[in-house]
Amino acid sequence: TPVDLAAIVRTTIAQLQDSEEARPKDIIALPGDAAVPVLGDEAQLAQLVHNIISNALKYGRAGTPVTVELIPEEGRVRLSVSDEGDGIAPDHLPRLTERFYRVDEARSRSVGGTGLGLAIVKHIAERHRGQLDIASEPGKGTRVSVVFPLAA
Ligand code: ATP
Ligand code: MG
Repeated sequence: TPVDLAAIVRTTIAQLQDSEEARPKDIIALPGDAAVPVLGDEAQLAQLVHNIISNALKYGRAGTPVTVELIPEEGRVRLSVSDEGDGIAPDHLPRLTERFYRVDEARSRSVGGTGLGLAIVKHIAERHRGQLDIASEPGKGTRVSVVFPLAA
């Protein structure tokens, strides 16, 4: 069944905006009111969106924005979440979706988490024929995107 990815993103942002993690930053929510129909499971897609945005909030620098966009592409839609945090060194990128993998255990421990968030994101993306891409510039920030086919 088609679900509205834009509505899922708006709901998830509203939840996270009130959370402890979000306090020092702004979430810039760009998805408008237009429905973005994607085939899949609403709860799973909400989990995917939540895990990606919560990382941007955790690992972004205090006082810098987290930007969430839904960008239309030919027959597809790109969910894009950008932060202005410390970023991730290139050698770590291929391993981020492994279960329990955390870049810097000592530093990551202080922000909390188990290292499962992105493994779950990858799993849910695959079940929805979504393509996950993580791009990062150390010292500048990180952009995580998932491209989903649009429901006809
Ligand atoms: P959990 O999601 O289970 O609470 P977690 O956030 O540590 O814990 P993942 O979401 O799987 O686990 O992320 C794995 C690791 O990737 C993180 O520990 C962190 O080191 C790195 N990481 C993820 N997102 C970002 C980001 N936006 N900026 C910098 N590092 C990131
Ligand atoms: Mg996480």
